Amino acid sequence: MRERGFFTGKELRRVPLPPWLRKRIQIGGAQGKVLGVLEELRLRTVCQEAICPNITECFSRSTATFIILGDACTRGCGFCAVKRGRPQPVEEDEPERLSEAVRSLGLKYVVVTSVTRDDLPDGGSGHFRRVILTLKRHKHLKIEVLVPDFQGVCQNLEAVLEAGPEVFAHNVETVPRLYAEVRSGAFYKRSLRVLEFAKKQSKNIYTKSGLMLGLGERKEEVLAVLRDLRRTGCDMVTLGQYLRPSMHHRAVERFIEPGEFEEYGEIARSLGFLEVQAGPFVRSSYYAEALLKGAER
Ligand code: SF4
Repeated sequence: MRERGFFTGKELRRVPLPPWLRKRIQIGGAQGKVLGVLEELRLRTVCQEAICPNITECFSRSTATFIILGDACTRGCGFCAVKRGRPQPVEEDEPERLSEAVRSLGLKYVVVTSVTRDDLPDGGSGHFRRVILTLKRHKHLKIEVLVPDFQGVCQNLEAVLEAGPEVFAHNVETVPRLYAEVRSGAFYKRSLRVLEFAKKQSKNIYTKSGLMLGLGERKEEVLAVLRDLRRTGCDMVTLGQYLRPSMHHRAVERFIEPGEFEEYGEIARSLGFLEVQAGPFVRSSYYAEALLKGAER
């Protein structure tokens, strides 16, 4: 097993991570199979595109988060490793290829996300809907979608919600003060409205959101976001450490210590979230199935 580092801080060099952020690379398990299926079916994962530190752990457990609607995002958030660029045509056979991946990997739970497609008239919501409906053919499969804001257009949100995923996730990502700097094209209040709309429309669907910490937010700002999320009726929340994917991305302002994550977790639970995950390596889709199981209890 080897350790991997990440570009961090404002320095123009690779700097060591604190001990709690040295992730062991896992070898073996289902990784070979997952990679083979992805290649054969020409599917992408956010695990690869976003250089997720959990990739060997998740792939070895046959878990991956699929990213649909191409590999080019029309926005370009300062923290995100997914490339910004000219969007590609929607691949009409993508839902079927995803379905085949679910079958080949024997998945009981799948997380599907996408790049933001502000260029499409429906923001890509119709494609999300087709993906969900196609995946619903798998009887015991639970589906979580992690969606962009669709510019807050209700009919786009309805198209996704009516398809009936078990979990509707939309990440607020950071505190409102940092939106202009790190989430160009997104608006904090719009993201809250998206979550609120989803909860009001579909009481049976669990809603979920996530934040990355270490971008320069203050504790009281994080707590205010947690309270805002609860006001939308949000059921689950994740909090993890931001890691800089490359020197072209926003620097890490601070490494949050594990004890601080625990404290955020406890506060979030006391606010009434059904399930909370908070820790240095937590990502929106990290152990997503376990999070839903906890919420359902
Ligand atoms: S945490 Fe999510 S994005 Fe990261 S490797 Fe696991 S499934 Fe992929």
